[in-house]
Amino acid sequence: MPCPLCDDTGWKPIEENGTRRVVRCDCWREQVGHNRLADANIPKRYQHCTLANFTTYNESLERAVAKAQRVAQAYPVINQGLLLEGQPGVGKTHLAVAVLKQVIQTTGAPGLFYDTRDLLRVIRSTYDPAIRTTELEVLRPVMTVDLLVLDDLGAEKTSEWVEETMNLIVNTRYNEKRLTIFTSNFQDIPDDSEPNSLLFRIGHRMRSRLHEMCEFVVLDAADYRERPENAGAEDLITMWKMRRKTLPGPRSGRQARAQLRDGKGDLKWSGGRAGT
Ligand SMILES: [Zn+2]
Repeated sequence: MPCPLCDDTGWKPIEENGTRRVVRCDCWREQVGHNRLADANIPKRYQHCTLANFTTYNESLERAVAKAQRVAQAYPVINQGLLLEGQPGVGKTHLAVAVLKQVIQTTGAPGLFYDTRDLLRVIRSTYDPAIRTTELEVLRPVMTVDLLVLDDLGAEKTSEWVEETMNLIVNTRYNEKRLTIFTSNFQDIPDDSEPNSLLFRIGHRMRSRLHEMCEFVVLDAADYRERPENAGAEDLITMWKMRRKTLPGPRSGRQARAQLRDGKGDLKWSGGRAGT
């Protein structure tokens, strides 16, 4: 059955201030969004992710989903992307994909998802003379696509080549004012001697660029990959609280060191009593 609005022409007539003109039909937008979504390289595991099916059970998650919502709704009238930061399994990729999908579906803008390590691996593979794809053929869409998600930033061990490649991508997008959403397991602390800091993983230049391009949002939650089957919010809250207590992550380590440094002498532990 042909589209009742445009008779399958892709253009529908509207009347504005007494003048008739044609605009892109809803069916066209939908079709374009559908095709663009299929081209966005979203991994199967995350294809179901939406803002509506993201479970929130604490303030940091509520805040993160609100920020994601704002970006998705305001696009393209928005200057800053997001850097979603937090431990593995807190839902960073879910949120990033949800924004990407919503933007593609509602605006028809082209979008692209890449795991950072995968992207670097694909670029590296083009140096093999047996591979017909060129480096630029991989890089061009990453640098020019309207909305890019770069997942798991900092996971790749850094080298001069990695730094150069990442700076090229990020700086090009920055200069062209293209929106990017990053996720990272690494904490944004100004300590380049801490191996688990984002700064240690990506360097000063990239970090300060990211602060110009993105709003940093911390997700503090349980690892949903470890949740029992049919887990409800209560289970997740319990797991989240356990994680805060027991995880010997950089957060607690840093806290302990800061307390050692403050010179007051005794080793008090503000993150809950050890062993409890
Ligand atoms: Zn139509």
